[in-house]
Amino acid sequence: MTQAHPIDLNPDAFQTRLFEWFDRYGRKTLPWQHDKTPYRVWVSEIMLQQTQVATVIPYYERFMARFPRVEDLAAAEQDEVLHLWTGLGYYARARNLHRAAQVVVAEHGGQFPVHSLEAMAALPGIGRSTAGAIVSISTGQRAVILDGNVKRVLARLHAVEGWPGRTPVERELWRLAERYTPDRRLPDYSQAMMDLGATLCTRGKPSCLLCPFEDVCVAHARGEERRFPESKPKKALPERSTIMLLLSDGHGQVLLEQRPPSGIWGGLWCFPQFDNDEALQAWLDCHAPGATREPAWQAFTHTFSHFRLTILPQPVTLVRSTGAVSDSGRLWYNPRTPVSIGLAAPVKSLLDTLQQLPIHAKEDMP
Ligand code: SF4
Repeated sequence: MTQAHPIDLNPDAFQTRLFEWFDRYGRKTLPWQHDKTPYRVWVSEIMLQQTQVATVIPYYERFMARFPRVEDLAAAEQDEVLHLWTGLGYYARARNLHRAAQVVVAEHGGQFPVHSLEAMAALPGIGRSTAGAIVSISTGQRAVILDGNVKRVLARLHAVEGWPGRTPVERELWRLAERYTPDRRLPDYSQAMMDLGATLCTRGKPSCLLCPFEDVCVAHARGEERRFPESKPKKALPERSTIMLLLSDGHGQVLLEQRPPSGIWGGLWCFPQFDNDEALQAWLDCHAPGATREPAWQAFTHTFSHFRLTILPQPVTLVRSTGAVSDSGRLWYNPRTPVSIGLAAPVKSLLDTLQQLPIHAKEDMP
């Protein structure tokens, strides 16, 4: 599976080159790079999964200001945690973060079990690589990491064929990661590998001429950097559609419902959703008789990892107050005076649009 190297690079030489590069160019002033406690490193690692550093920084700072200790996070309401996550996406990360904080407090006395990679990886939302990153960066103990950035660097350096989601490919990448991980400067090593992937060996346009491994990288020697790592074999994403009911009380408030705790947008607040117009009309007849339907807004698409959702926003204005107001799991929300609740991204952008509309200005609807 692994191809021969143009120049063989032993682990010592690999580490020396990497440290020289990191000492000159690595990132050392990110907010989570000072006071590297397991808690602070953990929050940063979870936020950085699937998300760019520049996006994460303000979220991380707000989160840490509100929850400076794991006990603060464990004691928080899930709604507040999701609210501070609104816009970062992949909300299962936030729910797992909250649950893991509660486990750390309840079962480990508020201390992360950094003496054991197995115990760390058993916490909700922490896989083998994240456990390795938290342990190596916060304690300096030897622990191997293989996040998306490191996979990309190693797959290119050795031209590892195949999609890393396949077990034999992943096993080969772990073997290489294990081989290169040093016994010294573990926090710098983990950071350097992630930095190299994030800043030089980027997905779309690697800066090979600036890379410390330019002369030994097999993918680069072949001019095939972007072929590695191979993508997941493509399946067409299934299409689904939904109608979102923008039910206004005529005084600037709209109705939101809390989603069930698991599944799509679990625990977040959304507009009531309907599979089709008949279902919407039946609901209106029951909960909002006589309400005025406005022309529907332009439909738009939101893409999840496993399907594409077409959303048709349907504004409706109540003629009088109804029972929908007092149901549990529902609230009247004023986009002009937002409260701290977690919102799904398309709901947030619809609320932003609503916020800009004059109240009662039906003819101005987009
Ligand atoms: S030479 Fe290019 S492709 Fe190879 S590891 Fe460096 S940046 Fe990545």
